[in-house]
Amino acid sequence: MRRGLAPVLEGTTIVAAEIVDPRLTRPVDPREVAAELLGERIVTLDRRGKYLLWRLASGRTLVVHLRMTGSLRHAPAGELPEDPYRRATVSLGSGVDVGFRDVRRFGTWELLETGEARGYLGSRLGPEPLVSSFSAARLAAQLSGRRAPIKAVLLDQRRLAGVGNIYADEALWRARIHPRRPAGELDRDELTRLHRAVRAVLRRGIELGGSTLTDYASPDGTRGGMQHEFHVYGRGGEPCDRCGTSIERTVVAGRGTWFCPRCQSPVDDP
Ligand SMILES: [Zn+2]
Repeated sequence: MRRGLAPVLEGTTIVAAEIVDPRLTRPVDPREVAAELLGERIVTLDRRGKYLLWRLASGRTLVVHLRMTGSLRHAPAGELPEDPYRRATVSLGSGVDVGFRDVRRFGTWELLETGEARGYLGSRLGPEPLVSSFSAARLAAQLSGRRAPIKAVLLDQRRLAGVGNIYADEALWRARIHPRRPAGELDRDELTRLHRAVRAVLRRGIELGGSTLTDYASPDGTRGGMQHEFHVYGRGGEPCDRCGTSIERTVVAGRGTWFCPRCQSPVDDP
């Protein structure tokens, strides 16, 4: 989403902003946030974990989290499709409108003052798995001493930024690790495999524009392609692409979890 929006947003000025859903900005009044955005120039669009960061010329940052069903879409001014789920619209001086759509309404927009973003994100997010300095040793340090299931730790944004339910399941399948293995008990080989797997699935997801399960779309309206490459996620009862065993579903950390009971045996190295 960041890659699709950056060329549209960067260097442009916000000439109109309308936030129609108070849940998006609560406890702050949405009219207040909209008024503050007016006239702001967007310098860069960054991402940390699952947060999209609109870095503004004033030094402030608009922090957008899509949560479950949020998405951003751009179109020439006045040409965004009719949408009962649109929660906010930002009009740019370049003649483009950007709409925020959110069916379940868990998405958030927070306008942070200059200097606040670092602390805000630092307290919520662990390291980015895709930066070059993120080594297998760094992953090992994040997991060390943790008795929680590896899947739960992968989903914990304070341990590792940006890994969601789909990508956790797919990474564990690639690494041949059972989702319930205590995180701190993984050996060196498993850590190496998991490090490689997490980075590979995230990179692939970005390349393919994410996963469209129901109605998620990229900012230009195209659908993601990652769902065509799932090995385990949502594939209960289907044969494992590696060994043919039926994929099983369970619940870990309160989330639906799919795995191959043979490739991802609970004991080390089947
Ligand atoms: Zn298998």
